[in-house]
Amino acid sequence: MTAGRRVADVVVLGAGISGTSVALRLAERGVAVTLVDAGLPGRATTAGAGIISPFGLAPGDTDPRWTRLVDAAVARYPGLLRDLGDDATTRADYAIVDEVVVAADEEERGALAALAARAAERDPGGAAGEAPVFLEGRELRERWPAVDPDLQGLLLAGTARVDGHALTAVLLDAAVRSGVEVVPGRAELRRAGSRAIVEVDGAPVVADTVVIATGAWSASMLTTVGVPTSVTADRGQIVHLAARWLPTERLPVLKTFAGPYVIGFSGGRIVAGATHETSPDHDAEVRAGDQRTVLQDALRVAPGLTTARIVETRVGLRPASADGFPLVGRSRLDDVFVATGFGSWGLTLGPLLGEVLADQVVGGPVHPVADLVDPLRVPVAVPEGAPGE
Ligand SMILES: Cc1cc2nc3c(=O)[nH]c(=O)nc-3n(C[C@H](O)[C@H](O)[C@H](O)COP(=O)(O)OP(=O)(O)OC[C@H]3O[C@@H](n4cnc5c(N)ncnc54)[C@H](O)[C@@H]3O)c2cc1C
Repeated sequence: MTAGRRVADVVVLGAGISGTSVALRLAERGVAVTLVDAGLPGRATTAGAGIISPFGLAPGDTDPRWTRLVDAAVARYPGLLRDLGDDATTRADYAIVDEVVVAADEEERGALAALAARAAERDPGGAAGEAPVFLEGRELRERWPAVDPDLQGLLLAGTARVDGHALTAVLLDAAVRSGVEVVPGRAELRRAGSRAIVEVDGAPVVADTVVIATGAWSASMLTTVGVPTSVTADRGQIVHLAARWLPTERLPVLKTFAGPYVIGFSGGRIVAGATHETSPDHDAEVRAGDQRTVLQDALRVAPGLTTARIVETRVGLRPASADGFPLVGRSRLDDVFVATGFGSWGLTLGPLLGEVLADQVVGGPVHPVADLVDPLRVPVAVPEGAPGE
């Protein structure tokens, strides 16, 4: 970066799960970090549902490059929570609860059989040492008491859930303890030759290196630093319910091929989501019609939730990259790195890729997944559509 008042070695822009992970990992590597956030409505991390699953259901999720990335990120989670300290797992409400994917008709039953075969082949014995199990009727209701018993279910081991908002608070606390300075304000980034200039609320902020982790608001900064793959805002609306009569603490994540899902958290909390809407103007409003859709979809698969209390609604802007893969690594400018483009997978991928990026910034070891997420890649061509949609 160019001349001005120097604040740190690295300035990280954006304090969602991505920027906070990067900031913490850099500080742990002995780097002086300033973390800037504008507090914009629609932060994806605050609305994220919290599914940490090795099993994506979109066509592109079977791409071996994608599964390599997701497997590495899911496997990192238990160690990540351990490293964050004794109360991190409780504060982030992290638990491995497995998942049940349900099928409503013949076509979906075929997809379920294919998923079972893929899961068994990918990880013989199952991710947590258990093979996939088909569940129907009473068995299905025993695992998921409020579910429609006419559905066919497939139980897959190894899926976890996490409260992404709470986890990011844990990461931020650890970052501050490691010396990260947090600065509120809106950052702007300009280019001066081969270098970057950052201003926060109009005042120059100078460091050797910049990390762009501004989520769904990253598009113009990515263009400025020569990253060819863009990011758009994919708005997601979601609802939180209270169902104290359910054993929500240990409920498997409930997923459908059509998209809707239901997750249990401790204390009777249920999270059901979510919409996907393009939001070119970064509008982060909650709409009645969209919330009706979310509730109808959830109650279709889990009619036993009809009497659950509505606690709150949330909305977040997922930073969706053009090819579905994250953008994590060095930009065209030597002093600017990026960590965005996580789409629907940021709570899963953000912590691991924060470590991957921190290593790159300090010239440390190159992680095997780094090439998959290189922001300067030719956009990844996936045969059946982008993963993670
Ligand atoms: C409804 C929903 C459900 C989801 N479910 C899951 C799930 O189950 N599993 C999963 O893995 N992922 C899930 N995701 C995706 C995940 O939440 C996101 O991919 C992830 O949170 C993105 O994190 P981020 O840090 O990149 O962006 P964000 O969390 O959006 O953070 C970006 C930050 O940058 C700041 N910022 C922006 N511009 C500027 C600027 N110019 N200056 C300073 N600060 C700025 C903003 O204020 C914001 O705090 C879900 C997302 C949504 C919306």
